[in-house]
Amino acid sequence: MQLYNSLGQTKQEFVPYSDKIVNMYTCGPTVYHYAHIGNLRTYIMEDVLEKYLRFSGYNVKRVMNITDVGHLSSDADTGEDKMLAGAKREHKSVLEIAKFYTDAFFSDCAKLNIKTPDVVEPATNCIDEFINMVSTLLDKGYAYVAGGNVYFDTSKLDEYYVFGNMNEDDLAVGVRDSVEEDTNKRNKTDFVLWFTKSKFDDQELKWESPWGYGYPGWHIECSSISYKHNGEYLDIHCGGIDNAFPHHTNEIAQSEAFIGHKWCKYWFHVLHLNDARGKMSKSKGDFLTVSLLESKGYNPLVYRMFCLQSHYRKPLTFTYDSLDNTAKAYEKLVTRIANISPDGEVDSAKADELIGKFKEALDNDLNTALGLTAVYDVLKADTNGATKLFVIGELDKVLSLNLITEKEDEEPAADSDLTAEIEALIQQRTEARAAKDWATADAIRDKLKKMNVTVIDSKDGITWKFN
Ligand code: AMP
Ligand code: ZN
Repeated sequence: MQLYNSLGQTKQEFVPYSDKIVNMYTCGPTVYHYAHIGNLRTYIMEDVLEKYLRFSGYNVKRVMNITDVGHLSSDADTGEDKMLAGAKREHKSVLEIAKFYTDAFFSDCAKLNIKTPDVVEPATNCIDEFINMVSTLLDKGYAYVAGGNVYFDTSKLDEYYVFGNMNEDDLAVGVRDSVEEDTNKRNKTDFVLWFTKSKFDDQELKWESPWGYGYPGWHIECSSISYKHNGEYLDIHCGGIDNAFPHHTNEIAQSEAFIGHKWCKYWFHVLHLNDARGKMSKSKGDFLTVSLLESKGYNPLVYRMFCLQSHYRKPLTFTYDSLDNTAKAYEKLVTRIANISPDGEVDSAKADELIGKFKEALDNDLNTALGLTAVYDVLKADTNGATKLFVIGELDKVLSLNLITEKEDEEPAADSDLTAEIEALIQQRTEARAAKDWATADAIRDKLKKMNVTVIDSKDGITWKFN
């Protein structure tokens, strides 16, 4: 499989460290608010990557943190902890909002068919691991204590800007010359590993440490949690593109200084979902959630398909018009699939050929748009229904659009209450017609029409069907 690697900025053949397992790490959500559909674009594309690796025969161990402490309102170690700001907003404790928004995140993921990673670890579970990593970095001379905080010394590295292609705006996040400048830092790019002093002294969650009562920096969380569960050799690290700098850059600095050798091989970054105002962002407050889409009548899987229709390395602009187009396409697709009768036996040579087209698309840097085209190719293929359904079922292991079950799940005929109601209406209509009460008969016909029911009058009697 060819995968674009932000480290090197080229498409590269994916070769994991070991042929036994692929170690994959994902930056989890900062749980101070609902995830917006931009965040979820990133998690959908990471889910496709994980599922495609499994589909290709790899064993995958996927680890994700939950950021419930230490992510400050500016990525440059300044500002208030986002969790604390969220707790104040809702007049709750930090742990209460962490629990609430963690549950909300996984409920959104379930609606989008995003598999829960094998390991999910909240940062507040791993304070000992953070302290251990910071202590080692101090012992090895990569860190220093100043003004009560522990900092990573970026001047000790041969190369700090590992992703190379940072533009000025990206860099400004970490090295801003603003009033917030922290005079304890030896170098502008140094960052905090452990806080005991910040101008926000009301930080709710704090722990004892060799450097005083305090809390971890955000970056150390991911380095430590990945080390704890994935070990010294990480194959793929994922996140949204905004995480590349400074978060992932700092993770690499810490992890490689700590471990003493190259750490992660492939960096998978998903470009942003934008709306008319630019990047969708939690801190802007006014953002779109899965629940909002549901309340407007959209099946969440329509949003999943909307994401799969474009390449993860291109920015994606959300509009309701384009979502409506996807909704129509999705409905047509599942209807066409539901209409395939499962006749014949699976022709395995033909199935391999059709699955091969899908693999070709996804092997080329996870081209999900072409992967979807491969589904349409199956519909048009010159083969029997059993083969088509088998192949679509296989492809849906990766696409996870409920291409086969959705229609069956929603089959209204399975609902006996509904059937009884329809039959009662048809009976009333027959009686009204017999009594020449055309107004009532027409009203009942309109009601049935709204229920998507067509009544068929024939010489053999009255039957009905769903449209
Ligand atoms: P957060 O909860 O802010 O820590 O972000 C969770 C994930 O969503 C991270 O991987 C971010 O890089 C990613 N992310 C944030 N905003 C967007 C966006 N507008 N589009 C796509 N991904 C995003
Ligand atoms: Zn992270």
